[in-house]
Amino acid sequence: MIQSKLFSRTSKNISKEEISLNARLLIKGGFVDKLAAGVYSLLPLGWRVVKKIENIIREEMEMLGGQELFLPTVHPKKNWEATGRWSSMGEDLYKIEAEKGANFVLGPTHEEVLVPLAKKFVSSYKDLPLYVYQFQNKFRREKRVKSGVLRTREFLMKDLYSFHADQKDLDDYYEKVKKSYGRIFQRCGIGEKTYLTYASGGTFSKYSHEFQTLTPAGEDLIYICEKCGTAVNKEILADQDNQCPQCGSKKLREEKAVEVGNIFKLGTKFSQPFGLFYSKENGEKQLAVMGCYGIGLQRLMGAIAEVENDERGLTWPTAVAPFQVHLLELDPRDPQNRKSARQIYGILQAKGIEVLWDDRAGKLAGEKFADCDLIGIPYRLVISKKTLQSGKYELKERKAANGKLVSLEELPEIILKGRG
Ligand code: ATP
Ligand code: MG
Repeated sequence: MIQSKLFSRTSKNISKEEISLNARLLIKGGFVDKLAAGVYSLLPLGWRVVKKIENIIREEMEMLGGQELFLPTVHPKKNWEATGRWSSMGEDLYKIEAEKGANFVLGPTHEEVLVPLAKKFVSSYKDLPLYVYQFQNKFRREKRVKSGVLRTREFLMKDLYSFHADQKDLDDYYEKVKKSYGRIFQRCGIGEKTYLTYASGGTFSKYSHEFQTLTPAGEDLIYICEKCGTAVNKEILADQDNQCPQCGSKKLREEKAVEVGNIFKLGTKFSQPFGLFYSKENGEKQLAVMGCYGIGLQRLMGAIAEVENDERGLTWPTAVAPFQVHLLELDPRDPQNRKSARQIYGILQAKGIEVLWDDRAGKLAGEKFADCDLIGIPYRLVISKKTLQSGKYELKERKAANGKLVSLEELPEIILKGRG
């Protein structure tokens, strides 16, 4: 992409009232725009990051046998009454009167739509197990929205739901999803800082699990076992008498964290109210057993931003970066420079490398370097009179102090290797 044509621009000065680090970094870099408290637009750069995250998640969901679908945002009141959540979640719901006397909910989650839908297709044990997922906007009346994109009133969630004939089948699948989630956060570059965390399991199962990323911006407190590295949330800590449920150790250290994903055994909580029965081999009717598994996309982007930055701006992990290379053309008015920049832009793109080309005239070199650091693309490639004279180009990793001069021939290979 050509930067002079980019829809968004970086901004150095943003309101002091914006206290969230992820929001400050993402707004300065031109990734998001704040429309209102807890309501953000994703600009082209931010949307590219979210799409990268989405694709990683999608690959993992497909490996789990998930089938992607897309459910409505507007849910009839009667579905939410059927589960009792019209009133039990009343405070958190955006209720709308679509027409006089017709009440709806803007979906904060999708069991109320998916379970009656599954009922239309599931009748026999032969129809199970089933796994479906979507990337969908969720709406929640969050009260405190001071954490930038970590907690918003409207956000994209990947929600996967599994339907099983029995508990054993759910238990096995749950373990697979747990591993898959570990890979997702690893691939998104925050594996080291993300902890599998025991959380309350509701009525059906003793535990559920959260994936918690360590950051001072997190609103949760987790307790990490010094011995085995698993964590528990506050609720479990109290129930467990300050003991690790995994290994029994009592050496736990408190950390602030944000929940980037969670997995939950629902059991028959939702198949019951909607009567999602299937017939067993012997003809007996039984309720399907369910699991649900969520990840918030903007929250994940925000968690990455909280973890991956320095005093100059963002430092995106390669797999989720909006581009792999930021090509800085320092003397755009020089025909030699322009020619060279255009050539490199073409070569890299032909190799499947995504390039943001700073072709802007009338910007000082210092401004281009500062913007480049703010945006945080993994590689910076500089073309200037100086580099042209040497016949080489200066390539610098965002996180490295110094760059090195590389020839045109070796350039694509180095960058592709860095991409892994
Ligand atoms: P929290 O305890 O932080 O409110 P939750 O338990 O309500 O989270 P779930 O209902 O399990 O979250 O939603 C699944 C995922 O959706 C979460 O793990 C998180 O990544 C994301 N998420 C939840 N609420 C929000 C929000 N208000 N803004 C952005 N992402 C969210
Ligand atoms: Mg919540």
